[in-house]
This record gives sequence, structure tokens and C-alpha cells, in this order.
Amino acid sequence: MRVYALCTGYIELDRASMVSDLKPGQPWTVPVTSFLVDHPRGRLLFDTGVHCQARLDPLARLGPERIKRLTVKSRAGDDVVPQLARLGLKPDDVRYVANSHLHFDHCGGNEFFPRAAFFVQRPELEAARRPGFVPSYSPSPIDFDHPIDYRMLDGEHDVFGDGSVVLLPTYGHTPGHQSLLIRDAKKAQLVCAADACYTRENMDRDVLPNVLWNPSVMRESLAVLRRLRDQAGATMLYGHDPAQWESTPQAPAPVM
Ligand SMILES: [Zn+2]
Repeated sequence: MRVYALCTGYIELDRASMVSDLKPGQPWTVPVTSFLVDHPRGRLLFDTGVHCQARLDPLARLGPERIKRLTVKSRAGDDVVPQLARLGLKPDDVRYVANSHLHFDHCGGNEFFPRAAFFVQRPELEAARRPGFVPSYSPSPIDFDHPIDYRMLDGEHDVFGDGSVVLLPTYGHTPGHQSLLIRDAKKAQLVCAADACYTRENMDRDVLPNVLWNPSVMRESLAVLRRLRDQAGATMLYGHDPAQWESTPQAPAPVM
């Protein structure tokens, strides 16, 4: 089994939106990441990044409200299809896709995988399909609402049935956020936290972002991830951490 980190966008936003106790007004460019797990029984893609249209026509893709808060800084090739091509893969080579959640920077490329089976937590998809039903959570249908084989999960899911690739419910950032736990043959553990933890600073100082659905639920999920890192010895890959990303091997080099 191999795991690869893919660059699926860059976004500039206010640093205080990600680390809520900082002073507002510091623009910050953060990476958007996806992960490809190449398992003997098939390939799983964790998150599909920002849609390539967002770089060329941000107003049309993201809408007027969102582009007041953030700027897409991706370069050509910083999206999922060309990133897979670095590994010699096409979308149809991917059997499973999991979305950590349905914000635009995690499911923008979903439409490119019409043949894959998608794993999403049930509360995430149900909330996304009923705009306004869950306050402060209204992802864009343009990103997730495609003729896609969504399979709704209720909690933990062992993707290949051998304990090596497990989706973990880490609700709070959104109603049904999930992270990915990977264990290799030597029992080394890697966790792709996605937006359950944006940066190392959020985990080390126990600070939540401004963008979230439920702070107490998110804090519990952050504690679960922190125990995996600090007690179980897992390597934690944060959702949008520029410093960590600089030192992370990127496809075609494997991260595990
Ligand atoms: Zn995100």
C-alpha cells in the first residue's frame, strides 16, 4: 500500500478565520490537499479539492459572498485531475472517493469521478441536501450535487475490510466531517485530519477556527485526533497547514 499527497489548490484568507484568537487582518495563503491511497484492493481518493474553474472564473464558481472572504491562489495544474496524472492515473482508475466534508475546497472535483463509489457521512450529505436546515452550513450544489454514487456512512468505516484504511467521524467543523486513518504493515499510523484540524497550531494550543458548525462537538473531535497523535504515535497531516505542507513529500513521491 502507498499513500500520496496531492496539491488540489491554494487559498488566501484571513489567518484569524483559521486560528480564532489571532488578530484579524493577516492575509494567509494555505494549501488545499487530497490524498490517494493505493491499496491492493483498489484506490481511494480522500477529498477532491477546489474545482479548476475557481481559478479561472472565481465569481461564477464561488459566488460573490465567498470571494469577499477568500482568494483562490492555485496555479495551473493545482487540481485533482492533473495531480492524479502525476501518478500516471486517470479518474476512472479510482474506485472509491471519500469527502471529508462538502465545503467547496474538499469536493470541487467530485464531478470528475462518475464511476467511483463515494463515502460521505450521513449527517453531512443530508444537511447539504437541505440548504438552510442546519444553520451556518450551506455548501454549494455546484460542487457536490452530481449524478454520483454517494454511500452514506453512520460513523466509522473500514474501507477495505482489513483495518488499513478507516474513515473516522470527526464531526463539528461541519455536521458530518470525517478524517482518514491509515495503518501500514508495520503498524505506522497516518491521519489525514482534513478540516477537523486546520493546522498544528490549532491542535497544540487547542484553538478552534471561526468557520465551524458546532464548537463543542468540534473540540471533542480535536481531542480524539490529539490522542491519536500524542498517545498512539500517529503522524498527523493537518487540513491546511502551510508550514507542514512545505515539508510533506508530494506526488509522485509517496508520503507513506
Ligand atoms: Zn478546507
